[in-house]
Amino acid sequence: MRIVLLGAPGAGKGTLAKDLIDYFKIPHISTGDMFREAVAAGTELGRKVKNILESGLLVPDDIVIQVVEERLKKGDCQKGFVFDGYPRTVPQAIALDEILSKMSAKLDAVIYLEISEQAVVKRLTSRRVCPRCGRIYNMISMRPKNDEQCDDDGTKLIIRDDDKEEVVRKRYRLYVEMTQPLVNYYQDKNILIRVNSEIDHQDLADRVIQTLEKVRP
Ligand code: ADP
Repeated sequence: MRIVLLGAPGAGKGTLAKDLIDYFKIPHISTGDMFREAVAAGTELGRKVKNILESGLLVPDDIVIQVVEERLKKGDCQKGFVFDGYPRTVPQAIALDEILSKMSAKLDAVIYLEISEQAVVKRLTSRRVCPRCGRIYNMISMRPKNDEQCDDDGTKLIIRDDDKEEVVRKRYRLYVEMTQPLVNYYQDKNILIRVNSEIDHQDLADRVIQTLEKVRP
């Protein structure tokens, strides 16, 4: 099963990716994680992308595409994969099609998790993090036992800078604008599956898996 996940920050991509890798027994490929790992390990790639990541800009297409091509050559991708954070541009989407076609393969589905700006704001502004141990809570769905204090160490929880309302709204709008050309690209290829992600995580996973079963090669 070869899957691409699209969805704004807060749409629940990470959680759904976990469900899909468990169910289909395929690897989760997050280009963001790969770049962060390269930076942490101080590899040549890491040195190239460090400043770009810190400034929040996109890594140039040629670098991303090369990293993805190398990754897809590894044996664990034989049965498929779930891409998360890739492709982000139409040239990256075209390159993915070309890489797969060289391997006599193709994408089976692109899942687009749709969510309103209002719902994202509600989800992300209710997120809290322990500044001491990094544990994440949500004041709606995963509350700490004691009001706004970490269950593990009692530290007062904080809101991360990028979870503040104005920042969340800006990221959401930017995401939707940037993703629209990709949505059109995959819609034209008839492999786009739109899913309303303003529902409970488990229901979302069940619904997506059911839909994917229908297109399973
Ligand atoms: P975010 O932190 O915005 O959720 P990711 O974790 O997916 O994003 O990626 C972190 C960073 O890695 C991005 O800000 C970008 O610099 C780089 N990156 C990841 N994937 C891509 C991609 N497909 N194209 C270009 N840059 C990317």
